[in-house]
Amino acid sequence: MSTWMDVDVVVIGGGPAGVNAAIAAGRQGARTVLIERYGFIGGMTTAALVYPWMTFHTLEGKQVIKGIAQEIVDRLMARGASPGHLRDTVGFVRTITPFHPEAYKVLVLDMFKEAGVKLILHSFVDEVRTKDERIESVILTGKSGRIEVKGKIFVDTSGDADVANLAGAPCLQGRDRDQLTQPMTMKFRMRGVNLAKVKQYMLEHPNEFYEKTPFDELADLPLTGILGFYKHWQEANLPINRDQVLCFTGPEDDEVLVNTTRVQGLDGTNVEDLTEAEEQGRKQVMMVADFMRKSLPGFENATISQVGAQIGVRETRRIDGQYTLQVDDVLSGRRFHDCVARSGYPIDIHDPSGKGVKAAWVRGDGAYDIPYRCLLPKNLSNLLVAGRCISTSHEALATTRLSPSCMATGQAAGTAAGLSVQHGAPPGDLDIHLLKQRLREQGALLE
Ligand SMILES: Cc1cc2nc3c(=O)[nH]c(=O)nc-3n(C[C@H](O)[C@H](O)[C@H](O)COP(=O)(O)OP(=O)(O)OC[C@H]3O[C@@H](n4cnc5c(N)ncnc54)[C@H](O)[C@@H]3O)c2cc1C
Repeated sequence: MSTWMDVDVVVIGGGPAGVNAAIAAGRQGARTVLIERYGFIGGMTTAALVYPWMTFHTLEGKQVIKGIAQEIVDRLMARGASPGHLRDTVGFVRTITPFHPEAYKVLVLDMFKEAGVKLILHSFVDEVRTKDERIESVILTGKSGRIEVKGKIFVDTSGDADVANLAGAPCLQGRDRDQLTQPMTMKFRMRGVNLAKVKQYMLEHPNEFYEKTPFDELADLPLTGILGFYKHWQEANLPINRDQVLCFTGPEDDEVLVNTTRVQGLDGTNVEDLTEAEEQGRKQVMMVADFMRKSLPGFENATISQVGAQIGVRETRRIDGQYTLQVDDVLSGRRFHDCVARSGYPIDIHDPSGKGVKAAWVRGDGAYDIPYRCLLPKNLSNLLVAGRCISTSHEALATTRLSPSCMATGQAAGTAAGLSVQHGAPPGDLDIHLLKQRLREQGALLE
């Protein structure tokens, strides 16, 4: 096996967390490489069609996530590939942020070049070499064979804590009582939807939709999301353990992204379960699309325009790190001295075994802190973790898993990795004030 690279920072996984981590590390001057198993970046947000980004704001409308995440939105807007933050017409959050996934994939390539990040696609990390509680290298497998990449600091943004797990750091999965995780969902897009007709139907039948839908403003708002059609869904009686239709509009004017299939009881870190999930998910897509076309006003001429390249996986492994964010920390809007990211997204648990979604909103000023210690695993001195596999409880993961929060923890981890290289200090020994100052200088919101 050849040592192909020896760099400062190695980021594994090119989803929302990994993208922002790599850009942040590169901007700190660290020689950075990002390794991604697919042929494009974006993780769940592109491969599984997850959309829109949700949310950069609190329920009251205060922006709590900026930094590289906001820069991406601004630069997509400049390319005509995002309308920016829009009012959520589902009413679950204040704003949602539609974006064109293909434009996002390309913009990020430009940002990597500007930040000096080396991108290695089509490569899966399946081995981690450690010595004295330090990672020395990761081994990636791809068409070029097996390649060793050495680094000083590693950032696990695999979504599944693959690197932490392979390196022997303690990890947890699912809810405490039975380890069941949130369900998987195969997402798909439909074009040919008459959105004006859908909106008119919503205005005329408010009791068939989610109670928080902002009906008093809806007539004047661009329709961004739809949650409900309870009556139609119940009458159809499809074999899907869910109680409503959820979809978001865009990116085209006659298009929606449907988030309604549900695959429960399977483990997103087990390939046999994943294979079963792909089959169930794709069969459900056909059923739901057929139901929508036949039953829902405005969908009479709709056709499937895209189905996820893979099923959407909400939850798998998470690290059992130096601090575990709890649901009470989130709901009380608890402040931490080592806050490196904030979020205003509610607790949003798609039931691992039941029909519904359990939701709870953040009190106080509507935002909570994510402490730096949630990004630090136990027993490994040169690994940082960001994105949906940071150290939280199953319940708290139900908010930190959202893409903007993953981008924010990604920026924090990448910045910390860059600083560690500059100071020759392990991430756990960094001066937290210096890290927070550097994050603020890079536009992150920590207050
Ligand atoms: C069905 C569903 C609906 C959702 N709805 C929304 C929504 O409406 N809005 C929102 O903001 N968020 C939503 N989310 C949450 C959000 O999309 C994810 O939690 C988020 O993408 C996680 O980001 P991440 O970077 O941590 O991980 P991921 O997006 O999972 O990215 C991980 C990346 O690592 C790569 N990778 C994994 N293992 C390896 C390996 N061993 N070697 C190399 N590469 C590897 C993967 O290919 C992937 O690109 C939803 C998620 C799902 C599944």
